[in-house]
Amino acid sequence: MGFPTVRPRRLRSSQRLRDMVAETDLGPERLIAPIFVQEDAREPVPVDAMPGVHRWPLGAVHEEAKRILEEGVDKFLVFGIPARKDEVGSEAYNPQGVVQRAVRELRRELGDRATIMTDVCMCQYTTHGHCGIVARGPGSWYVDNDATLPYMGKIAVSHAEAGADVVAPSSMMDGVVGQIRRSLDEAGFTNVLIMAYSVKYASSFYGPFREAAESAPAFGDRRTYQMDPRNAAEALKEAELDVEEGADILMVKPALPYLDVIRIVKDAFPHYPLAAYSVSGEYSMLRAAGERGWLDEDRALLEVLYSIRRAGADAIITYYAPRAARLLREGRNAFRGPRSHRGGQAPPPGGSQQPREGGREAEPVPRGGGQGRQARHPGGRAGGLGHGLRAPHPGARG
Ligand SMILES: [Zn+2]
Repeated sequence: MGFPTVRPRRLRSSQRLRDMVAETDLGPERLIAPIFVQEDAREPVPVDAMPGVHRWPLGAVHEEAKRILEEGVDKFLVFGIPARKDEVGSEAYNPQGVVQRAVRELRRELGDRATIMTDVCMCQYTTHGHCGIVARGPGSWYVDNDATLPYMGKIAVSHAEAGADVVAPSSMMDGVVGQIRRSLDEAGFTNVLIMAYSVKYASSFYGPFREAAESAPAFGDRRTYQMDPRNAAEALKEAELDVEEGADILMVKPALPYLDVIRIVKDAFPHYPLAAYSVSGEYSMLRAAGERGWLDEDRALLEVLYSIRRAGADAIITYYAPRAARLLREGRNAFRGPRSHRGGQAPPPGGSQQPREGGREAEPVPRGGGQGRQARHPGGRAGGLGHGLRAPHPGARG
């Protein structure tokens, strides 16, 4: 059977029908917000290449976290920028280090209202900027995998002692997940999760982060431990090893240039939660184009997040987390209809289902100029579509 009997456009003819058959949901519970903490900062330091992102001083981290929390995002991934660096990154496992203090501050101020995750690596903490212990080989240097592992275990334990719920090893050292699991268990932290940067590519999209975290390597690059962008099948080997070593959550990083990898990892390990890290370069690209008015940033950022969810990611680490959460909460999701009732309260007449997606607020928010886009959208009937987007649909979700 084919055209004209079959017309896929019929299912796209109204917002209600599109919402009914949408295959992918996106809500703030899926989002993780990275937070940079700088030990010697006195006030928030803007990151030039990431407009809207700051490096926060200790003592103010919790204020930023509370702001993000109010937008509906309750998962944080903490990165530290220490005041002192050395060859072995000893500030990374110092109980009084920047991340450890930041985690204690967040725990003290937020209690159990947020899940606190920490990046476990050495590159911000070493003078050479590599993710492990650098050794001299015959004629050159190299990052010594096995010498690095005990340090990773110590870093993870120090984060758990400070109050981290989840540790996220990002060094791409072989065996790092197993080492951290053993170290955590031996220290009594059997309930601390490991979110493994299982599939981390040697990507040019990390550029803006390196400014943010002051972690550019002083020499060489990270291609001897991070994955080659030309490879996809190898991702399955990396993910499989992390599963065997005890990872609770797998991760692919970056996200947007590696949606195919997200998909094959999810298909290979459907019984493991998968996170995707939409990295600094992805954020900066959209921000730059948005600032110039070259694309509709609100719409584009949600489209990107949907694409990552559609590829198979359960959770997304993104610098857009608070902004995306606000769009979803305020019903300003260009792809779906507004909430028809307030979540958590009595369902509307004829409705029986709580909203699973988006924010808790039901009210559509009037948008100046935003609706015009709908009218121009190819395939839509001008006017009808725009109206359908805005009008409340009692019971539409039930
Ligand atoms: Zn690193």
